[in-house]
Amino acid sequence: MAFTPKTRKYLVAFLIIGWLFTLIYSFLRHPPQYPPQVKKLYRDNRVLMGTFWEVTSPDKEAAGIVFAETSRLEQLLSKYIPDSEISRLNKAGKLKVSPDTFYIIKKSRELCSATGGAFDITVAPLVDLWGFTDRKFRVPEAAEIREVLTRVGSDKIILHENDNVVEFKIPGMKIDLGGIAKGYALDCAVKKLKAKNIRSCLINAGGQVYALGDKFGQSWKVAVQGARKAEITGALELKNQSASTSGDYQQYFLIGNKRYCHIIDPATGYPAQAGIASVTVISGSGTEADAFSTAVFVLGKEKAKTLARKFNNLEIKITE
Ligand code: AMP
Ligand code: MG
Repeated sequence: MAFTPKTRKYLVAFLIIGWLFTLIYSFLRHPPQYPPQVKKLYRDNRVLMGTFWEVTSPDKEAAGIVFAETSRLEQLLSKYIPDSEISRLNKAGKLKVSPDTFYIIKKSRELCSATGGAFDITVAPLVDLWGFTDRKFRVPEAAEIREVLTRVGSDKIILHENDNVVEFKIPGMKIDLGGIAKGYALDCAVKKLKAKNIRSCLINAGGQVYALGDKFGQSWKVAVQGARKAEITGALELKNQSASTSGDYQQYFLIGNKRYCHIIDPATGYPAQAGIASVTVISGSGTEADAFSTAVFVLGKEKAKTLARKFNNLEIKITE
C-alpha cells in the first residue's frame, strides 16, 4: 500500500511521538539513581525457639526487629523455659496469661477442629512420654499410652475470654506449642516490620520461611530441603507468603528399621505414620502454614486433599 508524502510525514511524526512518550514514561517510573543504587542485602542470624533464624533484607534494621519480637514470644510460649507462661500454665493447670498466649491457644483450638483433631497442642504429655522433650527416647507400653490419652484433647481446654484465663479440665494436662509457635512468631515479626515500613524481608526459621514483599522486584526464591538426605530438591517462589515443612527427618529415633518421629497422632497416641516423609504447606499466614503442615503429616495424602479443598488458600506439597 502506498502512502502520500503527507500521510507518510504524519505517520513518522506519530511514531516519533509514541516513542518519546514510552521513553518519558519509563524514565518517570524508574528514574536512574545517581550514584547508581547498589542492591545491597543485609543478613544476620540467631538461634531462637530452638532453631536457627536467618533474616535477609535490604533494610539494616530488619534482623534486629525480627529477633526482638521472636525472643519476646519465646519467653512467653516455650515449654523449655521454666518461667514461660506455657510452663507455668502446664504446672498449675490454670493461669491468667498475656493476650499473645491467649490468642495462640484459642487459635490452636480452632485449628484442632479445622483439622479434625490432627493438630492438637494437648499432645504434650504424649510428646513427653515418647521421650521427645528430654531426648530420652522410648517406646511406651500400650497401657501407658491409653492412660495418657485420657488427658489429651483441646476440648478439655477452658478459655475464660473476659479475663484471659486458661484452665485445663483434667489434672495432668499440658500443652505444647512446638507445632505453631514459630509460625505465629513469623506473623508477629512481619507485623512489626510493616509497622516500621519495612516491605522487603526474607525470614528463614529452620523448617519455615516467611517472604515479605519481594527482592528488588522479584519473588523471593527459597530452596526446599529433601526429605531423606541433606540435598536441595526444589525451589519455591514466594511473595507475602509463608512455607512450612513438617517431616519425619527433623526429630526421630529408630528401633531396627522402624522410625518413630516427633509428630504424634492425637487419635492413637503413637507417632504419626501416614506414609508421608515430608510436607510443605504454603499460606499467607505463617501461623496456619505451621499448624497445617503438622496436621497434614498426621492426616496423610488423601485427607490432605479434603483439607486443601476446604481451605483453598493453602498450597500443599507432599513427599512420600
Ligand atoms: P512441626 O515441626 O511444626 O510439624 O511441629 C512438630 C512439633 O509439634 C513437635 O515437636 C511437638 O512439639 C508438637 N506436636 C507433635 N505432634 C503434634 C500434633 N499432632 N499437633 C500439634 N502439635 C504437635
Ligand atoms: Mg507446624
